[in-house]
Amino acid sequence: MPTSGYAGAFPQAWGLPGPTEDGGTGMAAESTAPNGHIRLTSHRGGVGAPPLTWAAPTAAARGPVVGTTTSRAHRNVIGTHSGSYSVYRALAVAAGALSREHRADLTNTAPTDDIGPYPSWHEPGAIVSLDPWGAQVADVFAEHLSAGYDIRPTIAVTKAHVILPEISEAISSGRLRPDGKVLLDGGAALVTKAAVEPVWHLPGVAARFGCSETDLRRVLFEETGGMYPELVTRSDLEVFLPPIGGQTVYLFGSPRDLSDPSVELTARVHDECNGSDVFGSDICTCRPYLTHAIEECIQGAQRGGVGLVAYSRKEGRALGEVTKFLVYNARKRQSGGDSADQYFARTECVAGVQDMRFQELMPDVLHWLGVRRIHRLVSMSNMKYDAITGSGITVDERVNIPDELIPPDARVEIDAKTAAGYFTPGAVPDAVELKKAKGRGLPA
Ligand SMILES: [Zn+2]
Repeated sequence: MPTSGYAGAFPQAWGLPGPTEDGGTGMAAESTAPNGHIRLTSHRGGVGAPPLTWAAPTAAARGPVVGTTTSRAHRNVIGTHSGSYSVYRALAVAAGALSREHRADLTNTAPTDDIGPYPSWHEPGAIVSLDPWGAQVADVFAEHLSAGYDIRPTIAVTKAHVILPEISEAISSGRLRPDGKVLLDGGAALVTKAAVEPVWHLPGVAARFGCSETDLRRVLFEETGGMYPELVTRSDLEVFLPPIGGQTVYLFGSPRDLSDPSVELTARVHDECNGSDVFGSDICTCRPYLTHAIEECIQGAQRGGVGLVAYSRKEGRALGEVTKFLVYNARKRQSGGDSADQYFARTECVAGVQDMRFQELMPDVLHWLGVRRIHRLVSMSNMKYDAITGSGITVDERVNIPDELIPPDARVEIDAKTAAGYFTPGAVPDAVELKKAKGRGLPA
């Protein structure tokens, strides 16, 4: 094992040039690395990495997550910070716009609200896909920071006002009443919001999915095109910062009340749908359901409870938007038109699966917030419900999207989902109903 500097001992194993040559490959290592060597991470970079004991009872016992790219010897995880944005950071370094030595100045960046610590933070297996201490690193790892370790928050908590046309409409029609506390006269709702980056404990993630850690590491390595060699060379590193999107949490009312099972909690866990959430596409119910949930959260907070929307970056059932749009075309062009009985089949034809959101990791954010009971879950998804209740959180009541909020073109989706087991207080469509084409075709 090399013990210092850059791991040039086994470069040929990865088909890379040696540390002081370009091997005729034309790789521009010399222009981006300070001394011309390629910074391999597949082997130890020396000593000095703080120990990381996942789910330890205190921050000190757990140890900081160090994903720095500047001090290899300090790294105790695979991958680096900022999820998918790590690639943009690399571009900024390559373009000469960002010094790779830059350290974040964390002055005045502390969370606006304290979250935890809660017993779930050190319950084995309760949280495996985020760092519960991620918002407090400047505080709980102050000694490490002053000793020169580059430790970055993976969670940030702030305050905001949110203004949505659907909420203004709810005020004008009398469904919502501004109270000057949760909802202002002008229609702004007061929220605490938190951004959460993924931090995966690989043994815990493997356990959630019922596979071996070895298989998980190998497939992650192979299916990212060999992006993180340490997945297969560094079994001593158990934590991975994956290059994927994270979650954003919007809280209505006092964040402290989330952990009190006697305070009414209205919650929605929502998966990103840019087409509907932002641009108002009418082929699905995503935005109407999201804004309905926000209305329910505001009402819940005004009753003395607390509201929570956890928004996950899992575009198009985590298949991505290109796949999603291909599926739309396949649905609308199929013979017989867009019908609910073919809804899942068309997705599976294009993507190979019906859904890749795998809700198994989703409840972690709820356990970070200390949630033990959800009084009103604003969701019809049986997968979300099963994941939440399976993780030990009690759900009292499920709230469906009101019929009048379902756009006509989204009838196909909602019929297919309720037939497949989504919660509905109404009738489940039968086979005849599912065969009726209800979606718009494409313009000729
Ligand atoms: Zn949608």
